[in-house]
Amino acid sequence: MIEGSRIRGFDPVRLAEMIEQRVVSGSRRKYYRFRGSRFYGGSAVGDVVGCNLRCAFCWTGRPRDDVRLGFLVSPEEAYRRLDSIAKTRGYKYVRLSGGEPTIGFNHLGRLIELFEQNSSYTFILETNGVLMGARREYVRVLSGFRRLHVRVSIKACSPELFTKLTGASPDFYEYPIRAVKHLADYGVSFHVAIFAAFGDEACWAQLLERLVDAAGPDLLENIEVEPLVLYPPAKRRLRLLGLKPRFYYEPR
Ligand code: SF4
Repeated sequence: MIEGSRIRGFDPVRLAEMIEQRVVSGSRRKYYRFRGSRFYGGSAVGDVVGCNLRCAFCWTGRPRDDVRLGFLVSPEEAYRRLDSIAKTRGYKYVRLSGGEPTIGFNHLGRLIELFEQNSSYTFILETNGVLMGARREYVRVLSGFRRLHVRVSIKACSPELFTKLTGASPDFYEYPIRAVKHLADYGVSFHVAIFAAFGDEACWAQLLERLVDAAGPDLLENIEVEPLVLYPPAKRRLRLLGLKPRFYYEPR
């Protein structure tokens, strides 16, 4: 149903609410794995189930859409697992990735709180920014944490491309930009990753101007360009949609 509405676009806030009912139980949230990764110079990662976008280039695979997968984990257990990986490998960072970690916000808040109270790691929250754009209150809560860093991944430089690439309605294109504004307003540590493989330079220049308006020129110093790694399923989906990336990497 969601893939079929790619032309018109679906409501990703409503979808997040529907997914939340399936991946959250009390304070527990569904994950599909915990692992170490080399990103950020080494980080312990919890990969969560469920995302409210349907990016054609997504690498997450089945746990993004199939909410039957994964296992429910309390914030305390997620803390123990991430702490153990980070401790064993000498990492300074822990992060949530995979699907969209702001789905199940109470779980997320409690998990970050546990890290604040019991460790000195930096907690990196990787998000598509849609829910933070819709709910300023989320960002207000996050502003209470001192060792949190948010990475907002912006998938497209225009409403039309946003819908083509993510499947969500063009009405929600603004939401990640709003999230950036909320983060700047509340003084939360963050940076923006742009997914520049689609859209021309003029389109991205316009988006960057919007971001500067939202959060000030300092934001430009830390912009990350997110690479497109073209795994076979992503390649197939992009071909079906008639979307050609300007640049990409092969998985190896
Ligand atoms: S926001 Fe991230 S996890 Fe969600 S569909 Fe897009 S690439 Fe995949």
